[in-house]
Amino acid sequence: PPPKIPSKAESVRVVVRCRPLNKKEITDGHEAIVQMFPDRGRCEVRNPKSGEQPKVFTFDFVYGADSKQRDLYDETFRDLVQAVLDGFNGTIFAYGQTGTGKTYTMQGEKNNPELKGVIPHSFDHIFQHIAQTENQQYLVRASYLEIYMEEIRDLLSKDQSKRLELKERPDTGVYVKDLSSFVTKSIKEIEHVMNVGNQNRSVGATDMNEHSSRSHAIFIITIECSEEGGDGENHIRVGKLNLVDLAGSERQTKTGSQGDRFKEATKINLSLSALGNVISALVDGKSTHIPYRDSKLTRLLQDSLGGNAKTVMVANVGPASWNFDETITTLRYANRAK
Ligand code: ADP
Ligand code: MG
Repeated sequence: PPPKIPSKAESVRVVVRCRPLNKKEITDGHEAIVQMFPDRGRCEVRNPKSGEQPKVFTFDFVYGADSKQRDLYDETFRDLVQAVLDGFNGTIFAYGQTGTGKTYTMQGEKNNPELKGVIPHSFDHIFQHIAQTENQQYLVRASYLEIYMEEIRDLLSKDQSKRLELKERPDTGVYVKDLSSFVTKSIKEIEHVMNVGNQNRSVGATDMNEHSSRSHAIFIITIECSEEGGDGENHIRVGKLNLVDLAGSERQTKTGSQGDRFKEATKINLSLSALGNVISALVDGKSTHIPYRDSKLTRLLQDSLGGNAKTVMVANVGPASWNFDETITTLRYANRAK
């Protein structure tokens, strides 16, 4: 039977995740102002400076401080990855202020299998599925790129100073010219590709934290499946999975940035606001124009956002009182996207 086409209602899903208070926040005496009610998809945020009622938001799923990486995978990501194995495109975004758990959600804690994030979980899922499938041949390829200041860098290329261009062809749509991709035949091989890219991410960055908070990292897995049909012909279907660790959503102008820093700030905000506009236009369903062209990020992901593609956005927030403003901003952004 043909694969099930996801209905509009389930094509974009937004979930919110709040990390635990960290050691420093506890020793500094910060209190948690975010409360999650997973049973009801409800998130409450108390304003530490006023006695008013907490602000209430609701989402498809919410995850609190004790949420497990595996539960997120099973409840929130697994169907999307399965759809990619079935030939659809899909995109998973981690959105949020720096330090709230985007990389934790996407990659997880290295060296602790219990704490692996959605990317390594998807490796397991994909290669287990392939191992269990008969009569179908799979080809898995991986690419890894970064968008920084609206410039694209191939994280798997030998030459890390090269900048890549976005091109468009009538038959294949938008693509990144000269982006490298590696055929991977096992979990080990694709993990290796990811590690090489992660190492290259820090190349040329004087401050890795600073750099990763200002750039978007996109790990792309392309899965080709060929199967002999009843007619004796080979049928090929291709699905693409984009795993996106977004730049930090915090207001970049706060520190009175000037010159290059100011230019950088506006460019980072540009991709994030363009993404918000695209997703809310898709969710709205009535928009005749989806503004994909407004940023590199949305142009690049055009064929994986909307249409038959599936999207999951995880909005990450911190629980502490000092995060109040950014937490509210993130929840409003996420609210617009659902
Ligand atoms: P970001 O990528 O958004 O800047 P990180 O993923 O690096 O944030 O997370 C910041 C810190 O908080 C890391 O030390 C990370 O291990 C920890 N952390 C984030 N989310 C969680 C979570 N859900 N449970 C436990 N620790 C977390
Ligand atoms: Mg990060």
